[in-house]
Amino acid sequence: MEIIIGRDTETSRLRLVADDQQLLFGETGSVPASVNSRHCSMSFSAKGISLKNLDINSYTYVNGQAVEQKEICLDDRIELGTDHYLLDWDAIKQIAPADIRHLKQIWEEYDTHRMDQQIADRRFNSLRSATGIITMAAIALSITTGRQSVWFIVLYVVAILISLAFTVKAWKDASAVPQKAQQLSRQFQHDYVCPSCGHFLGSQPYELLAQNDHCPYCKKHFIH
Ligand SMILES: [Zn+2]
Repeated sequence: MEIIIGRDTETSRLRLVADDQQLLFGETGSVPASVNSRHCSMSFSAKGISLKNLDINSYTYVNGQAVEQKEICLDDRIELGTDHYLLDWDAIKQIAPADIRHLKQIWEEYDTHRMDQQIADRRFNSLRSATGIITMAAIALSITTGRQSVWFIVLYVVAILISLAFTVKAWKDASAVPQKAQQLSRQFQHDYVCPSCGHFLGSQPYELLAQNDHCPYCKKHFIH
């Protein structure tokens, strides 16, 4: 995404143009005439910010040095024209795309936790069915060998113990699991938000967010 930075010739305010959006900043007459209407551009990508001086007859300074093109950081001091008009980063941030790369890890961690919980639930249920199998084995044994068989008693005791263990675990999980799930969900809703408007981005996987390229709420472009 590219922003064209310059002076609005009618009002002498700072003008930023990106895609079909145009924004004016500062008071009327706040930008000196040494700043062109299309003075420089900033390109935003996952690699960083690239600043380009657009007119051979005008000057763009980065930390005091005149540049034609330079990779810059958010805290660099950018000045335009021979009057050294200081560019306001707050204005740039309003139109610049939002970096959402940190959301990838947040999504992956949430997705993994959710999946792990589902797997744990299914494993618990399949293990629980073992009690039924052992009980049936004990009954089968009692039919073939008679009720006095030691194995019948052993199997029955094992079935009762397993059943008890599962009941205790199910009792403990009854409150702990939903609490953990709720905590995870709350944390996710707090973290998985648009860096620009702070709106929760829902259960959209990160890949889908990156594909859509902009926030569905504030329409801010994303760097991904
Ligand atoms: Zn947003």
